[in-house]
Amino acid sequence: MTTQTVVRQMPELEDALKRRAPGLPLEAGALMARYTTLHLGGPADLLATPRHPEELQLLLEEAHRLGAPLTLMGQGSNLLVRDGGIRGLVVRVASGMRGITVHGDTLVAQAGATMTSAAMAAAENSLAGLSFASGIPGTVGGGAYMNAGAYGGEMSQVVVRVDAFDRQGQALTFTRPELAFGYRHSALQQRDAAVYRVVFQLPGGDREELLQEMVELNRRRAEKQPLNFPSAGSTFKRPAGYYAAALIDECGLRGYALGGAQVSEKHAGFLLNRGGTAADFLALMAHVQRVVWEQKGVRLEPEVRILGEDAPVKPV
Ligand SMILES: Cc1cc2nc3c(=O)[nH]c(=O)nc-3n(C[C@H](O)[C@H](O)[C@H](O)COP(=O)(O)OP(=O)(O)OC[C@H]3O[C@@H](n4cnc5c(N)ncnc54)[C@H](O)[C@@H]3O)c2cc1C
Repeated sequence: MTTQTVVRQMPELEDALKRRAPGLPLEAGALMARYTTLHLGGPADLLATPRHPEELQLLLEEAHRLGAPLTLMGQGSNLLVRDGGIRGLVVRVASGMRGITVHGDTLVAQAGATMTSAAMAAAENSLAGLSFASGIPGTVGGGAYMNAGAYGGEMSQVVVRVDAFDRQGQALTFTRPELAFGYRHSALQQRDAAVYRVVFQLPGGDREELLQEMVELNRRRAEKQPLNFPSAGSTFKRPAGYYAAALIDECGLRGYALGGAQVSEKHAGFLLNRGGTAADFLALMAHVQRVVWEQKGVRLEPEVRILGEDAPVKPV
């Protein structure tokens, strides 16, 4: 897409959505900086926050029918949105769809439930295996899509089924083998699936011990990570055989700043927004990648998902 893209279907799409789903939260020109943990990104043409799976399905059907581009997001904790924002419809599967139920050893979460609330619900019901998720910002939908993990735990170990829609709004079910989980990867990425429900199967555990384990993991997280500045967590994936943070640190880049973006002093794997733009952040990412390649011969691949358009160039 160019920086001048106009999606002509948007007024028709907005009208159709208002007619077919009265009360569906819609925001035209929603500033993506408000919906991402990096606090970066220009406006989305239209942002919708579905309240239940049927509304998510309707959004997919209508965008497909009118040929409007559609971008899915959860809580925006792994997203870098460019300064020109996102053309078309952004569907935010987060606060509107966050129910969690537990039956025996099975925990069923709507895709917009937070990772932390799923971990809490598991512990409260004496189910183990999800403590790692407490403290990972974001939704279980985004977590399944990314195969999020921490402290030795990963979604791949506990998710047994994902219910989703394809881009036409047709229902899809993925069993664990079909999810083909890998490091920060799932088959949901290839299939462009819109997740509405994640099913976990969990072993029994001791409620008090699990709650204590989560407190401890959150303490470790706060000790190691720069949680007081906007970030998207680890900016780069762990390259095979290395740690991105150690490589960046060894290249002398800890604390390095470019415009309003900075490599964290506390954890060199976290690039921070220190009042800059997405363009600053992208320039810092490119600089870090170049230096690490030149000095260490290792290619750093982004873990953050980069979306949207650059800001239009202002006439001088
Ligand atoms: C301070 C901090 C610490 C972090 N620590 C960790 C960590 O320890 N481990 C870790 O793995 N990650 C970590 N992250 C990154 C982030 O929290 C995870 O990647 C998280 O799983 C993203 O979830 P989200 O709902 O915010 O998704 P988003 O960031 O909104 O989206 C991420 C991707 O998932 C897709 N997606 C989201 N929801 C859906 C859906 N319902 N259906 C289909 N696709 C969807 C989006 O299209 C996008 O490609 C951290 C981030 C921050 C800010």
